[in-house]
Amino acid sequence: MAEEFSNANFIHDFIDEDIAPGGDYAGMTVHTRFPPEPNGYLHIGHAKAICIDFGTAEKYNGLCNLRMDDTNPTKEDEEYVDAIKEDIKWLGFDWGDRFYFASQYFEKMYECAVELIEKNLAYVCELTPEQVKEYRGDVSTPAKSPYRDRPVEESLDLFKRMKAGEFEDGKMTLRAKIDLASGNFNMRDPVIYRINRITHHRTGNDWCIYPMYDFAHPIEDALEGITHSLCTLEFEAHRPLYDWVRDNVTLPSKPRQIEFSRLGITNTVMSKRKLRKLVEDGFVDGWDDPRMPTLCGLRRRGYTPASIRNFCERIGISKTNSTVDYAFLEHCLREDLNETAERTMAVIDPVKLIITNYPEGQTEEFEIENNPNNPADGTRKITFSRECYIERSDYMDAPVVKGYFRLYPGNEVRLKTTYIVKCTGCKRDENGELLEVYAEYDPATRGGNTPDGRKIKGTIHWVDANNCLDAEVRMYENLFTDPEPDTADKNFVDYINPNSLKILKNCKVEKGLSESSKTHFQFMRIGYFCTDKDSGKDGKLIFNKSVSLKDGFKKK
Ligand code: ATP
Ligand code: MG
Repeated sequence: MAEEFSNANFIHDFIDEDIAPGGDYAGMTVHTRFPPEPNGYLHIGHAKAICIDFGTAEKYNGLCNLRMDDTNPTKEDEEYVDAIKEDIKWLGFDWGDRFYFASQYFEKMYECAVELIEKNLAYVCELTPEQVKEYRGDVSTPAKSPYRDRPVEESLDLFKRMKAGEFEDGKMTLRAKIDLASGNFNMRDPVIYRINRITHHRTGNDWCIYPMYDFAHPIEDALEGITHSLCTLEFEAHRPLYDWVRDNVTLPSKPRQIEFSRLGITNTVMSKRKLRKLVEDGFVDGWDDPRMPTLCGLRRRGYTPASIRNFCERIGISKTNSTVDYAFLEHCLREDLNETAERTMAVIDPVKLIITNYPEGQTEEFEIENNPNNPADGTRKITFSRECYIERSDYMDAPVVKGYFRLYPGNEVRLKTTYIVKCTGCKRDENGELLEVYAEYDPATRGGNTPDGRKIKGTIHWVDANNCLDAEVRMYENLFTDPEPDTADKNFVDYINPNSLKILKNCKVEKGLSESSKTHFQFMRIGYFCTDKDSGKDGKLIFNKSVSLKDGFKKK
């Protein structure tokens, strides 16, 4: 499937034409922007847009602004603004000193609206929202408004009074005078200002009229000198209106809008509204729950900036919305962690293994590489003694599973880096619960080699029972059982995976883990894990499973 992703980048093709000699932007610095609405945390879909906006600027040695699109004051919140900045920085992008709020331009937008009225290109309309809908027309019938031909002076007066707060919410709107018969309904005299008495998180109660997105956005872009305004496909049908505003009001520059496809990922939901519902209704543990597709959630899960940027690069850019397999995101993380994560041993479902012929009280040290893929990461010392912890599943009374080469009475197994041990039996309680496993070690196999060359098929991980730490390990699965939980016929909360979080409280890890400055680990044979943000508080170590070792993507 990786091969299906195309490397063609039509955005760059357009820009190449635009900046070439004779092009519309010849000789100009390419200038993009990322305009999030601060009404929630950023998700992996935004990461795609961020990589396109900032990445395009980087490619052309240009600039990319960060602009909070806060023209709609109903749900904005300062908390989100800070989180958005943090997430973009974390991804590795920099807006320099070009951080803006769309609300900074309210005065200028108002002036633009007045200009349109004066040019007889906008009018105050008194239809109620219901009437606007009713008079909208259809493909063969034009829309209508009895207020369309109201004199310029009257509209100017009413618009000023709208601003002054003389009319109640919803009583009047300002509409652009474009084309009531247009096949594109966005051009049928769209509303560009409405009355809405709501306290704005930055401008307070200064305004009781607010501009609509389609009117505000091209003005924001032009005021900032944006050359290329990159956005998602749903704005394609709005482009004629973008251009109309741009071309009919006096503005310092003429930005070009280019659309690309929205990213969807299987087994998750992407819209902020739905993510907020998951948080507010307690389906997850907050915006940064490691099961969330938010950037803070992915970060807490163990995703690295490199893995996400790489993912965004490789899914490419297209003109058709598509859903990418979650396994491909995991594949990109696994690739990165395979290079960078420190190898360590952890036992997540422990049972004691007692080496009955190993001297009591004796301890040996072994040196082990931190990352065989990266020798520069060095080595560390681990200890071995008479008792260690192994995974419960690494013992069986008999090898009833085909290909089972681990511990069962009579079988020899390599304890990673130390010795070959031969299983001699086990102890169970009255319910058959496994209590201890017994083995004898062969002192001639130090380092895990057999001097006589006998083949040892199984190698298992372990931790020294006399030198280890307790840890809590959180195992995750997809948040949704259905690959597409968010289609029109489904209520996404009905498809939440009840097994998406499993907490293992009784795990044993190498002692060195509490001192390690590293945060990302490969627990050998189990998967990639990272330290949770709550780890270390009240002395408890907590790890999140980031991704399994096995690649579900390649398999497909
Ligand atoms: P949501 O429905 O999740 O709130 P949005 O488009 O309303 O999405 P904004 O904060 O307005 O969110 O988005 C900021 C930028 O990120 C926009 O340019 C938007 O096109 C882009 N973006 C949002 N979601 C995606 C996505 N799934 N894939 C690609 N780009 C996206
Ligand atoms: Mg939005």
